[in-house]
Order: sequence, then structure tokens, then C-alpha cells
Amino acid sequence: MRLSYSAISTYQKCPLSYKFMYVDKLPTKPSHYLSFGSSIHSALEFFYNVEKPEPCSLERLLEELDNVWLNDGYEDEAHERQYKEKGRVILTQFYHDNVLRFAVPVAVEKRFSLDIDGVTLSGVIDRIDRLSSGGIEIIDYKTNDKLPPKTKMNTDLQLPIYHMAVEELYGTAPQKVTFYFLVPNQKISVRKTKNDVAKTKDTIFKVANDIKAQKFDPFKNPLCPWCDFIELCPLHKDDPAILARAAANGKISAGKNQQAATITTIQELKQSATEIEKAVDEYLDLTQTISTARLRLNELQSTIHDYCEAHGLASISGTRGKLGRKARKTTHYNIDKLRELLEPRGLWEKVLDVNGRLLKELLDDKASQGELRKIIETAKEVEEISYVLYVKDELTEQ
Ligand code: SF4
Repeated sequence: MRLSYSAISTYQKCPLSYKFMYVDKLPTKPSHYLSFGSSIHSALEFFYNVEKPEPCSLERLLEELDNVWLNDGYEDEAHERQYKEKGRVILTQFYHDNVLRFAVPVAVEKRFSLDIDGVTLSGVIDRIDRLSSGGIEIIDYKTNDKLPPKTKMNTDLQLPIYHMAVEELYGTAPQKVTFYFLVPNQKISVRKTKNDVAKTKDTIFKVANDIKAQKFDPFKNPLCPWCDFIELCPLHKDDPAILARAAANGKISAGKNQQAATITTIQELKQSATEIEKAVDEYLDLTQTISTARLRLNELQSTIHDYCEAHGLASISGTRGKLGRKARKTTHYNIDKLRELLEPRGLWEKVLDVNGRLLKELLDDKASQGELRKIIETAKEVEEISYVLYVKDELTEQ
């Protein structure tokens, strides 16, 4: 079986999208992210693909960006211009940071093909440098706007796969493996241990075996609105909001999808996506404001209570109003006493009710007999369904 890092990563994100892309080989939609990333990679390949340590001028590098520029996937000319300008800024920054220590790399865009117990792993390493210590550093360029979370970088398979490839190609383990984030202009280097490599191999085998077993279930994830196959996905056919977001990202054609049929044009889908996104953003902002306000209210309450307590006050004034202070008693009934009082009057039965918490404890108790649990469950009736919103952490979801 042949696999690449991208294929493995696609499978890990969603097995069904892997199937659509690598098994069914369905066409993908043009993406400006991919075009932009490829253009920058090609310009940097040109910069380093030299025989002598004589870097070209910045003007020549920027001219090369024009030569290798891919224009697929941009919304319009203005959008493309904006990205080209961004590319020029990134390359200018890169040039200034690297030109003085320019050295001819060991390799650029180095292809590899590794056999790991029957799984052939192939890929391309952006750049391989020789360090002053004599060791090897792998560089992988990234054009993301932000750094991914640390946990993602630590568990990502790309660098350990490259580590294995370099070990195979040059007979020595790389000293450093580095993600070079070009937009925030930050390098993150990590060392991969034998243990990391062993874990990576285990993951690769697991993915390969799952693919062989044709395990292609869809897996909902935060990148679904950017999925090229969302129109074919069974998980989102009843979710107009996510389809609208996908349409706004150019991943859906109006009218092709049953759910989208009611919304006839891409323009409407985009508008709908923008509105729902605004609503979600406003909700998140308000949640944050309320939770900050709640914390502050608690602080103020204790300050005011402490002051009233110390001075024996039942009310206190500010410049805009007055606060009263009274004790709120929390009470509970003495069950034995209550029973003693009500039972002789024939009223005890009238106040008996099922205690939901205690019932749940009874049901959760492993010691509860299966039969009893089944009987109690049959008495459960849905009275009302209500929905709550909660803030989801996209990173843990990933
Ligand atoms: S939309 Fe999401 S769940 Fe469906 S195939 Fe694409 S990535 Fe998978």
C-alpha cells in the first residue's frame, strides 16, 4: 500500500473524505489556500536551488513569485491581488531574515519513498540544511496565518515521517526538524526520539489497516465547511447552516443539494452563512462578557457584604442608587417530623414525589438488578425537550 503524509492526515481527519479523494479519486475544488501555499513554496525553491552560496536579489525573488504564481481558487482579481501582496510581504521578510546566513542546502524539494514493513510512504521535504555542527536540519514551510496549538504540533505525523525519511536517505537521524511558519515569521523546532518514531509507525500501520478494511465512516470535524465533498456527505445533508458556510467557502454549488434547493443562489447561501456566523460570534462575545461580569459581580458582592457586616448595615448607598441587604434562608424539611405530622391526617401520600437524582443513582448503581432497571426505564416519559448552547473548543474537537 502506498501512502503519503497528506493521505494519512486526510484519513485521520475524516475517513470518508479520504475515500472520496484517494479511492474514488473525485476531483477537488480549486482552493486559493493551496494556490497561495504552492506559489510561495515554488518561489522559495527557486531561492535555494543554487549551486553556489550566492543568493539572488530581493527583486529577483519577487519577480519569481510572479512567474510561479498560481491563480486558481481566488474569488476575484481583488482577492488575488490581496494575496499576492501578502506573498510579497512574506518573501520580503523571509529574505531579510535569511539572506545574510544564506547557505546552499543539502537538498530542496527532496522526494523520498520509504518502505515500512509493506507500507510505502512517499513525500517531498521542502528543504534539508547542513548545520554548523555537521548535523542535518529538516525545514518544512507553512503558510498558515497562525501557529497551530502545541499539542497538534507534538502529535502531528509530518515531522516524524520526515525524520524517518532523512534517516533512510542519509543514514543519520536529523538533528532538528523544523516547521517554518512564514506568516507569523516563527520557526518551531523539535527533536524526535526513537519512541516518537515507533509511535508514528504504529499510527501508520493502524491507518493502513483501517484503509485495507475499508473503514470509511465520515467524521464530523471543524474543517467540514471547507470539505470538497460536503455535498456528498451524509452527515450534513440536514444542516443548512453548515452547507451555507461551505457555499461561502466555494465548496458547494447552489441547487445541487437537497437542503440547498430552498436557497437558490450562491449569493443567498453566502448571506445566510454570514448571518449565522455573526449570530454565533455575537453569542460567544456575550457569553464572554457575561462571564466576566459575573466574576466582577462576585468580587463586588463580597466587598459590599464584608463592609456591611463590619459596620452592621442593612443597606448601603452609592452615587447612583442604594442596595438593601437581607438574609436569605435556605431551608429543608425534616422528613421524619413531616411524616409524623402529615400521616395521621391522611396527607403524607399527597406530598410524595419521585426524586430524580435518587432515581438516577439507583439506575446507575451496578448492583441494581437488570430487571429492575428495565422496569423503571419503561416508566420514563419525555415531558419536554429543550436545547442549551455551550461553547465548544475547536482544538479539542480536532
Ligand atoms: S463534510 Fe466532514 S464529515 Fe463529511 S466527508 Fe467531509 S470532512 Fe468528512
